[in-house]
Amino acid sequence: MSQGHARWETFIPTRTIQRACLHYLRHVDLVLLGVRGSTPAPGPGFVRYGGHTSCVAVVPTGATAPTLLLDAGTGIGSLGLLLGQEPFRGSILLSHLHWDHVQGLPFCRAVDRDDSRVDLHVPVQDGVSARDLLARMLSPPSFPIEPEGLLGRWRFLGTPDGTVSLEGFEVTAAEIEHKGGRTMGFRVADAAGSFAYLPDHAPARGVSAQTRALVEGVDVLLHDAQFTEDERSLAGDYGHATVQDAVALADDAGVGRLVLFHHSPVRTDAQLDRITDGVSARVPLLTAREGMRIPVCRAG
Ligand SMILES: [Zn+2]
Ligand SMILES: [Zn+2]
Repeated sequence: MSQGHARWETFIPTRTIQRACLHYLRHVDLVLLGVRGSTPAPGPGFVRYGGHTSCVAVVPTGATAPTLLLDAGTGIGSLGLLLGQEPFRGSILLSHLHWDHVQGLPFCRAVDRDDSRVDLHVPVQDGVSARDLLARMLSPPSFPIEPEGLLGRWRFLGTPDGTVSLEGFEVTAAEIEHKGGRTMGFRVADAAGSFAYLPDHAPARGVSAQTRALVEGVDVLLHDAQFTEDERSLAGDYGHATVQDAVALADDAGVGRLVLFHHSPVRTDAQLDRITDGVSARVPLLTAREGMRIPVCRAG
């Protein structure tokens, strides 16, 4: 299990948000276990923001252990640091099946052990079951084991339709614009606040009413910011967002805070610093860093 980059650091909210969090006292926490897109980024230039691919742990109000994970990129390998000696028991929502969102799954001891319980939700497509879609990458000759080789009690399920109750959260899933297979965005809410997770999203291809509803007025939006404006043609080619795309969507949807997420694997710490310093937005924003813990609460 790779734990080399795990550093737990609580994001310090603005005074307004601090007041709101104190008002609610208890709130959901998001712990960013992996913030990269495409492929891991090891090396000295990537130490501060981290090199693991997409995975976010959601810790329910009043709990210490996460029960919901968003994606299973290589960042999921650090999940054990949140759980101590305990197994993971909960749900994993996969936004889509690109490698950077699934690759960590068989390398996470907290999910791959006899006493774990995992409901894995996969965007089903082309008439193929969730299990068989997963097996396309998790079976020989691509990998030594099949999905059934994972230890613990696993269920391979399709992504829930519309809005459902999942692990005590109100979860809404909707298909969003990306490239290369069906991709979902998620809105997750509880009594204290709401957040949306759209790690791979191309708003330039058009924002549907369903997508808009996912992000409208959420307290925290984690959004694809893989490319810069100079790289707009690449963003178009690969179905991703630029930083400005993410800012424009967040400003337009009146979100509480924007988290720039799914950084390019070639973007160094120094470059991410410069992007953060140079971006102009109405919405308060921060740049995702591995190990960051973000409280979800209303700023009002
Ligand atoms: Zn991705
Ligand atoms: Zn993708």
